[in-house]
Amino acid sequence: MGNSGKCALCGRVYTKRGMSRHLKSCLKKNMIPGKGDPAKGGQAGGGLILSVEGYDDPQYWLYLEMPFETELYELDQFLRQIWLECCGHMSAFKIRGNYYNTAPSSEWDEKDMDICVHSILSPGERFIHVYDFGSSTVLALKIIDLAPARAFPGEEITILARNTAPQYRCDYCNSIAVKICPECSFDGKGWLCEKCAEKHPCGEEMLLPVANSPRVGVCGYSG
Ligand SMILES: [Zn+2]
Ligand SMILES: [Zn+2]
Ligand SMILES: [Zn+2]
Ligand SMILES: [Zn+2]
Repeated sequence: MGNSGKCALCGRVYTKRGMSRHLKSCLKKNMIPGKGDPAKGGQAGGGLILSVEGYDDPQYWLYLEMPFETELYELDQFLRQIWLECCGHMSAFKIRGNYYNTAPSSEWDEKDMDICVHSILSPGERFIHVYDFGSSTVLALKIIDLAPARAFPGEEITILARNTAPQYRCDYCNSIAVKICPECSFDGKGWLCEKCAEKHPCGEEMLLPVANSPRVGVCGYSG
């Protein structure tokens, strides 16, 4: 079930693909007059609908809604907070061959993130986010739609749907894994249950908790 997720608007469960279809109609229903649609007296302006998934681990996915005014650095902050942040690494978006970096280098013609997402991206466009240029976690993003109103007006970036946490089995005894060893995960031997974690030769202090994130088991990521 790791690939399914729940719609934040109606609570129904769909696969990632099914969710994309479902959100189109569910959003329409939930942008009720007075709540979100500015044409009908709602206070909120329109927004962008986007999908995010792990580039190498697409079983981790999100559908987001965000105001037109959202700038790249706000999206970066959001992604850090929900999925990525371990020790304040640099990050960058790659959009149509341009780099938007938390610490832009003029030598490489990089830009900063103080720019409105809406001004540089249109529906259907894909782009990339990279967190940490050493042990990188790469995310694939896509602008799904421009909506005339938002289901969650007044809020900043909001989760419309998110994958349910995948369950992993211990690589040693097949029980439910609760820890991951970053060293041993390179050899496909990193998932550990409670018991096997206690006697793991790398030492318990090395181990990281299992988290619902494409950065699980990387650097110091603890969820
Ligand atoms: Zn729904
Ligand atoms: Zn780190
Ligand atoms: Zn075990
Ligand atoms: Zn280990």
